[in-house]
Amino acid sequence: MSKERVLSGMRPTGALHLGHYHGALKNWVRLQSEMECFYFVADWHALTTHYEDASVIEQHVYEMVIDWLAAGLDPAQCTIFLQSRLPEHAELFTLLAMGTPIGWLERVPTYKDQQEKLNDKDLSTYGFLGYPLLQAADILIYKANYVPVGEDQASHVELTREAARRFNHLYGRERDAQQRIAASLAKLPRDSAKRLEKSRKQYQETGDAKALEGALAYMAQAPELDPDDRERLSGHFKGTGRTVLIEPQVLLTPTSRLPGLDGAKMSKSYNNAIALREDADSVAQKVKRMPTDPARIKRTDVGDPLKCPVWQFHQVYSDEPTRAWVTQGCTTAGIGCLACKQPVIDGILAEQQPMRERAQAYLDHPQLVRDIVDAGTQRARTAAQQTMREVREAIGLNY
Ligand code: ATP
Ligand code: MG
Repeated sequence: MSKERVLSGMRPTGALHLGHYHGALKNWVRLQSEMECFYFVADWHALTTHYEDASVIEQHVYEMVIDWLAAGLDPAQCTIFLQSRLPEHAELFTLLAMGTPIGWLERVPTYKDQQEKLNDKDLSTYGFLGYPLLQAADILIYKANYVPVGEDQASHVELTREAARRFNHLYGRERDAQQRIAASLAKLPRDSAKRLEKSRKQYQETGDAKALEGALAYMAQAPELDPDDRERLSGHFKGTGRTVLIEPQVLLTPTSRLPGLDGAKMSKSYNNAIALREDADSVAQKVKRMPTDPARIKRTDVGDPLKCPVWQFHQVYSDEPTRAWVTQGCTTAGIGCLACKQPVIDGILAEQQPMRERAQAYLDHPQLVRDIVDAGTQRARTAAQQTMREVREAIGLNY
């Protein structure tokens, strides 16, 4: 049996930060040994917000891949590639765009949010409106089952599911569907085929789920049928047509939204981030300067962890006894804020140490990184081209 597929990407717009790691990258690393994983550098997506300063993208493409490798991605276990080397993504995007209502894109929550938050940029562009649909194409072209991303991306995966459903509804009928169904049924013993057709009518006319289940179970084990037959017949039985594009599911980590130094979502554009490979002194300085519960002005004032951004970091970096120590110390003014921050600093530095070491090998040999991306791009191309042949055939573009 082929493994289930995973797809995700990140934008090369700056050094990766702890939010990327805890929100998504940690999941990527875990999944690489369990499923067939495709991870891509979303350089076209970076252009949606950086079309005026594209040089930022160039600087960060390979740096970001180094961050991934530092975090533990293993090119022997997963496929790492570059979006812009695969024009197939743009082709699928164009084809999906033809039948996608504009309202679907205007309603995506990140559309208005980002326009407001990044108000120094002009994001009233066609590309920015359309990027969730480009993301849908990125995912659907690999027939991915799962998409490991942070919480802010969940609405994009939902749009992807709608786009797949719409495509299957519009084009999932094979042109010569009736003949093909008949040919698949003809492979079965004649009385079995008759019984199956009876069950289908029963299900479609009276909604008898047992009849459908029985028919599907029979087909699943019928040795006369190949996977294409089964796919075609199950569409015929359920009345849905063929599934050309697969609806993916989102995979969230427990920390699907890591706050930044100020308590808002950690983001490189909000100036509240700690980079994955940031140097130790700078990490310590940043945490020491973090604001705490505003009511705790003097060392003798008691504090409330729930009003302190540092507490959120203890959730990620500290064990239970340390958290109990923090709660007790903060609410009784038993410890000062600097003491409270030390375990967080230690936790971040301990997490980063192996990443710095792994990154060094690639910083010393940049060609290694290029070779990894080249090999991954070749593998991705094979998968993407296969889907595009099916998509063109489904729409009827094979003249
Ligand atoms: P930033 O948000 O820092 O500007 P970005 O928007 O360019 O970065 P994306 O490529 O959109 O980065 O995000 C990459 C992945 O990291 C996505 O899956 C996203 O959900 C996740 N992610 C980004 N920031 C956080 C965060 N603070 N907490 C959890 N997940 C995050
Ligand atoms: Mg983002």
